[in-house]
Amino acid sequence: MNIILLGAPGAGKGTQAEVICDRLNIPAISTGNIIREALKSGTEMGQKAKSFMDAGALVPDEVVIGIIKERLALSDCENGFILDGFPRTIPQAEALDSMGVKIDKVISIEVSDDKIIKRMSGRRVCEKCGASYHLEYKAPTQEGTCDKCAGTLIQRKDDHPDTVKARLDVFHTETEPLKSYYEKQGKLSLVEGQEKVEDTTALLLKQLEA
Ligand code: AMP
Repeated sequence: MNIILLGAPGAGKGTQAEVICDRLNIPAISTGNIIREALKSGTEMGQKAKSFMDAGALVPDEVVIGIIKERLALSDCENGFILDGFPRTIPQAEALDSMGVKIDKVISIEVSDDKIIKRMSGRRVCEKCGASYHLEYKAPTQEGTCDKCAGTLIQRKDDHPDTVKARLDVFHTETEPLKSYYEKQGKLSLVEGQEKVEDTTALLLKQLEA
């Protein structure tokens, strides 16, 4: 199954993508993680993306479309994939369509801006493998350390409050219109984000089975 997870930054897409990835045994593809990896390894693309990312802005469409094209061509996507953080604009969604990528389901995780701002302040990510945690809702077993790879957990620069507000503005203007884009294609389902990760997961899995 080819799945897109939509939602504001901090709505829990990354965490849910990891859960579905384990359940359905299909890769979770996060353009944000791919860009952060590129930045760490010092590639030209990473360098170019950095200023956009740090400001809470979107990286230009042609860059992320190139990234996703390369990633979806890998053999592990043959039985399906979950896209987390792509598409984020109408031109990106149109690019997927024109690549001939068939999307089965689009799930939008709905969370209010107020809750997002509260959540983001507690968010931590592993600097090594990119796994996400939350000090309140999904704490690691050992403080500051990744359960999966023992890497160090950090707060992303773009999770700081001012940047979060900028990212929410971008979400409402650029990304939210994708809901009606996919609704028109009959692919959209909404899932109300819950306080507990596992409650959102249960609602999400129900939608995937529907
Ligand atoms: P994320 O981890 O998905 O929140 O992404 C972090 C940052 O990476 C975003 O704020 C953007 O700067 C950039 N980014 C990730 N995915 C995309 C995308 N599909 N289009 C444009 N920029 C993106």
